[in-house]
Amino acid sequence: MTPTAVPTSTAVRTLSNHVGGAWAASTAADTLDDRDPATGELLARVPLSTAADVDAAVVAARAAATRWRAVSPLQRARAVMALRGVLDAHRDELAELVTRDMGKTLGDATAEVGRGIESCEAAIAMPHLLKGENLEGVATGVDVELVRQPVGVVAAITPFNFPAMIPLWFMPYALAAGNAFILKPSEQDPLTGARIVELANGLDVFPAGLINLVHGAHDVVNGLLDHPGVDAISFVGSAKTARHVAQRATANGKRVQALGGAKNSMVVMPDADPDLMTGGVMGSAFGAAGQRCLAGSTAVLVGTKGEQEAARDRIVAAAARLTTGAGLDPATDVCPVVSPQQRDRIVADVDRAEADGATVVLDGRGDAGPGGCTLAPTILDDVPEGHHVLTEELFGPVLTLVRAADLDEAIAKVNASRYGNASVIFTESGGAARAYRYGVEAGMVGVNVGVAAPIAWFPFSGWKDSIDGDLHANGRDAVEFYTRKKVVTSRWAA
Ligand code: NAD
Repeated sequence: MTPTAVPTSTAVRTLSNHVGGAWAASTAADTLDDRDPATGELLARVPLSTAADVDAAVVAARAAATRWRAVSPLQRARAVMALRGVLDAHRDELAELVTRDMGKTLGDATAEVGRGIESCEAAIAMPHLLKGENLEGVATGVDVELVRQPVGVVAAITPFNFPAMIPLWFMPYALAAGNAFILKPSEQDPLTGARIVELANGLDVFPAGLINLVHGAHDVVNGLLDHPGVDAISFVGSAKTARHVAQRATANGKRVQALGGAKNSMVVMPDADPDLMTGGVMGSAFGAAGQRCLAGSTAVLVGTKGEQEAARDRIVAAAARLTTGAGLDPATDVCPVVSPQQRDRIVADVDRAEADGATVVLDGRGDAGPGGCTLAPTILDDVPEGHHVLTEELFGPVLTLVRAADLDEAIAKVNASRYGNASVIFTESGGAARAYRYGVEAGMVGVNVGVAAPIAWFPFSGWKDSIDGDLHANGRDAVEFYTRKKVVTSRWAA
């Protein structure tokens, strides 16, 4: 049977890598199971590819990079336009694949695919964005010119929670800037990334070997980090892995952007519009079952005791009304988490908080569902200060309530986190919103917006332990990251 990105027969098969423009069987001895979180159905076996597989992809990418950088920026932009077109034509198919493989609702998956397509649209401006600088006459007959050249071979290592959008945070910009690309998708849900690579290679606008795919887990990541033929690493995942990736890539002389985990707070002021606040908090805390790096996992209730209680009651009542179920069911608000292991870990964290004195005001630890991954909205109150569930990312549908007498106290509590990905305020006061956006230590701020995800023309701007490296994904940062600056000083006899 000819390999494809997604198994097409009922007989589950082991996925192939895509190297040098063709499907290539991995040399892996072992595989991992990839299952539908809603049903537990085995979708595919993911090969744990080896150093030899990584090397084959890097060799193919290096050869293609040399040819691709000679293609004009206009032609490269047109190729990315074609990529945008094929993704748009397969929007619904990709969204359904995201839902089957990762679990999120179809609405969320469709929005995710849309965000990925927007990264292509932003990258199409590359001929404009690549333009350099110059200064004439810095000395007699001497001119200086800055040009941008591609870095070479870019490897992207991506997490499970946005299997379409995050590969597309990197691929279009890297290609438009003149680089070759290797994708190592999450081993937990690799089908969408593989399908995107298949669609791109089917276009006939990118040279063979320009876009490669290597399935696997830690060994593939470390192989890419150690390979001298890889010039730049774009990583997204948990904070611990981001630190590992950044340190190892840097030690090997590579440039790296490693976007890590988060612990995002939502500040609820007493004057917040009740509907905007409640809808925003629900979407942020429980959308995608809390498995977003922008998920608000702490609600800081500001005001008098009475005002805090009123906000708490509204939030708990709204969460209790949410429907938990399969992502393909249109009635579902809260999808399953990605695996039974993740569910067990999140439940253990809630159990521990309860044993340590927290009150479980809404308990979602009931039925695990057919795939063993279902977890309903859970809300914790009275959590002891400094507790793990308050300081670390749980990455599940769990919201923790915290109190503050006023905005200054709320900001101090938010800023105590080691993370700085996103933070949100709900208020009808322009002054409070302004003070918040000025003082909060987070790179993405929402004002009455629960999930403050920047559009692709802006960088995805986490701070503190939410990123290792200086340059973010998307926007002008992508141009900086995927190009090297060369400054040419010329003298010509008059
Ligand atoms: P993860 O760190 O477990 O995995 C991410 C990637 O790293 C995967 O491809 C995996 O194969 C690889 N990996 C994992 N452990 C490794 C190790 N020890 N050595 C080498 N490679 C390793 O992350 P995940 O669970 O897939 O994704 C969820 C995390 O990603 C959350 O922490 C979330 O906040 C974060 N995230 C951050 C952003 C952001 O923009 N900051 C966006 C999305 C997700």
